[in-house]
This record gives sequence, C-alpha cells and structure tokens, in this order.
Amino acid sequence: MTEKFDSLNPATGEVVGTHPVDDAAAVDATVARARAMVEWWTSIGFDGRKDVLDRWRRVITHRLDELVEVVHLETGKPRPDALLEATLALDHLQWAAANAKKVLGRRRMSPGLLMANQAAQLEYRPLGVVGVIGPWNYPVFTPMGSISYALAAGNPVVFKPSEHTPGVGVWLADSLGDVLHDQSIFSVVTGFGETGAALCRADIDKLAFTGSGPTGKRIMAACAEKLIPVIIEAGGKDPLLVDEDADIAAAADAAAWGAFSNAGQTCTGVERVYVHERVYDEFLGELTRIASGARGAADGNYGPMTMPKQLDVVRRHIDDALARGGRAVVGGPDAVGERFVQPTVLVDVPEDSTAVTEETFGPTVTVRKVRDMDEAVELANATTYGLGGTVFGRKRAEELAWRLRSGMTAINAVIAFAGVPSLPFGGIGESGFGRIHGADGLREFTYAKSVTRQRMKPALALTTLARDAKTDERLGKLVKFIYGR
Ligand code: NAD
Repeated sequence: MTEKFDSLNPATGEVVGTHPVDDAAAVDATVARARAMVEWWTSIGFDGRKDVLDRWRRVITHRLDELVEVVHLETGKPRPDALLEATLALDHLQWAAANAKKVLGRRRMSPGLLMANQAAQLEYRPLGVVGVIGPWNYPVFTPMGSISYALAAGNPVVFKPSEHTPGVGVWLADSLGDVLHDQSIFSVVTGFGETGAALCRADIDKLAFTGSGPTGKRIMAACAEKLIPVIIEAGGKDPLLVDEDADIAAAADAAAWGAFSNAGQTCTGVERVYVHERVYDEFLGELTRIASGARGAADGNYGPMTMPKQLDVVRRHIDDALARGGRAVVGGPDAVGERFVQPTVLVDVPEDSTAVTEETFGPTVTVRKVRDMDEAVELANATTYGLGGTVFGRKRAEELAWRLRSGMTAINAVIAFAGVPSLPFGGIGESGFGRIHGADGLREFTYAKSVTRQRMKPALALTTLARDAKTDERLGKLVKFIYGR
C-alpha cells in the first residue's frame, strides 16, 4: 500500500490534505507517461501549445479563488498575498505562451563573409521531459516560472512540489485537466526529498530546481550521474541601498515590505540595508515606525513561518547579532514566537555576524550606516550570494544598480524584476545559475539546433582532399585581406 503524508496549515497545525509519498517506481511511471506525450506536444507546434496554455490560463483565472484558498491554507499567508503571487504567475504564463514562437522559432542566420555560399538557420528545440522541483514559500509563482516556460518551449513537465505545499501542485495539474482531459503534459508527484531525488534519477532531460543551496548541491550530484543539465535557483541575502537623494519614505516602505512580507520567507527578500550617513537617522526612524506598526498574525500583515525549524535559524541569527554588539531597535529575541515572528530591525551588527552573512528567511533586517555609496556597494557585494537587490536614489541610482554583483536589481521599487516577464530571473554564486522568465527562460528549456545548406559552390573549395596549392595561396591572401586590417 502507498504510504501517505498530511499537509498542514502552519497557522493552526490542522490537516489540509493527504497525499501519496510517491516512490521511485511511481515517479518513473509518471515520467514515462510524460515521455509518451513528447511527440504530440512537439507536433502541435508553437500555435497549438499557445492555444492550450492560453486556455489553461483562463481556467486558472476563473478558478482563482480556489487556488488562493489552497495557497492560504498550506502556507498560512494572507489571501491577498496568495492572490498577488498567482497574478504574477498568470502574467508569466501568458508571456511564455505568447513569445515562445518569436524567441525559439526557426530563423535565418548570417553565414558571414567566408561562408557566404551557405544558407544558415537556427531553431531552439524542446529537450524532452523536464522535471521541476519547487519550494513552499511561493508555491505558485516560483515553480510556474519553470513550468510555464518549459511547457511553452515544447516539453512535458513532471513537478514535485514541496512537502509543505503538495495541494497547490496537485491543484495546478488538476486545473490543466479542464483543458486536456488525459494528456499528461503536466503531472505532479508528491512526497519528501526522496521523491525529488527519484525525479532526478528518472528518465528526464533537464531538471529545474528552486530551493535551498544545500539541496541544490545534492540535486546537481544526482543529475550528474546521467549528465542531466540542471537549473539551480537557490537562496539569497539581498541588499537594499539608500542614497542621500532617495525618497526616504518610499525607501523605508519598500524595505519594510521586502523584509517582512511573507514573514521574510522570500528568496529575493530584503535582508540587509545600507544607508548613506546623511539620511540614516531619518530612514531608520521611518522604518522603525512602520515595523513597530506591522504584525505577524493570522489576521496580520503577514502569516506564520511555514516551516517550524526555520524559527531556530531566525532565533540564532538575532542572538548572534546581539551577542556581537548589535541592537534590536524593533523586535529582538522575544519576537520569535511558536509559529509567528514579529518584525525585527537590527542595527550596529558586525558584517561577519550570521545575521549578515547567512540567509535568515524570516521577518528580520539589518540596517547599517555607510559613509558613501561606494562603501554601500562594497559591503553589498561582500557576500557569497548574488540573487537580487534594490537601490533607492536619484542621481547615482542606475550606476549603483549596475555595480551590484547579482542577477537582478530594482531601482526605486522592491523585487520589481520578478514581475517583469521579459526579464530573466536568477542568480550567481551561491544563489545558483540558469535563468527562468523572459527569452533566456524559454531558451533554458531547449537546445540550439543549427542547420546550414550550401546554396552554391564556394569560391574556394577548402574542404576537399583535392585542394591544390593555388587554393591555399589564395586563402592565405584572403585571410590577410579580411582579418589583417
Ligand atoms: P528545500 O531545499 O528544503 O526544498 C526544496 C525542494 O527540494 C522540496 O520540494 C524538497 O522536497 C526537495 N528536496 C529535498 N531534498 C531533496 C533531494 N535530496 N533531492 C531532490 N529533491 C529534494 O528548500 P525550501 O525550504 O522548500 O525552500 C526555501 C529555499 O528556497 C530558500 O533558500 C529560498 O531562498 C529558496 N528559494 C529560491 C528561489 C529562487 O528563485 N532563487 C525562490 C524561492 C525560494
């Protein structure tokens, strides 16, 4: 008999649903069903796939209340936050379906001067079956960033949602069932890490992972056995920079939302703030005011910690900051409750404290005064992560944004890059590699196929064993003429 597990409401501990713990045999069978769909899903072409994905988007939109409810129950996040993440996911689904043909379709390429007798063409072709392994913090938006783009690029997908949010994954696959009744182009397997590990070892052609760095390394190692390519979207320690000419009220509002919304359980959440000394007091005053009025509660500004063990990480980081001379101007050790953590603002924290160096993934933020923005950039970049970041300012904001060593930066807004579907999303360093979203996100689930046809005989016959000395001499002259100038 198949083993089962419960998904729980983290705000109350109540059981939300019960799901199978899929073992390797069940995962293999699901992947085999997806494999059987490769030919059909490829054969209907970009227009056929766009039609299916557009219809799916409309189904999700019509049934949005159900999706919001299951996200709310499984993560504990307020319904409006669940609605926001679902809305962004719908926008990406639409963009991927609408742009796949333009980005991936067959096109002529210039053959160059030397090969002017060739007609060169390029097309990005689907890889086959894509496995997606997702986290629980944005259980719709995050995996759909891989699922939508992989499907639009022509790959059937098998998705392993987090064990904390299996119901969301099952709901998504079921909703596609309203469009395609028994076509397994998108299926779900449920379970814990072992189910994910089985997906890595199944007959897939690429694996897109979003989750923690340590799991990402295990996934890479498992996929390496069969040379299966991977995308790793891992954690972050994103900075927010506030320059002296910034709109301070807007910067504090953005810092508060970036740090505390979703209980700080956001990969691109604001975890560190660097503020120009001329506006430090004003900024800290404003952030303190907002943080003091915010509350983590079932009916508060944000919900509970989804994973109980994360409470220990948050507590450890706050304790480390305080033990090393830091101060909590809002919150502190008492802010960490049994399920909820209250907003915590830490100042004077040394840069080698774990509160600054490690991903906290809780509603806490460190704020540091800097003498100028060059120091802010230097400190912001002194991290092993490199996911996103934010700059608030006017004159130098753009320059500072390009100097931040990370995959994405938003100026005068927070996390805005995640909502712009044409912009690739992903990090560098310990934040991972590979991109979802945008044209890069579509190409990530394809391979480049090049074809070139000889239109006429070349002026110089170079690739023949009958090549003569005269040809070699002409080639020598031609090379000097073309490349030597
Ligand atoms: P996690 O690494 O614990 O789990 C992620 C997924 O991996 C889950 O589905 C889990 O069951 C599965 N898994 C666990 N062990 C596995 C194994 N050995 N083989 C295969 N699969 C396995 O991460 P989490 O706690 O669910 O998510 C939080 C983390 O995700 C944070 O670090 C956060 O920053 C990161 N995150 C990153 C992004 C991004 O886009 N960069 C987005 C959201 C979350």
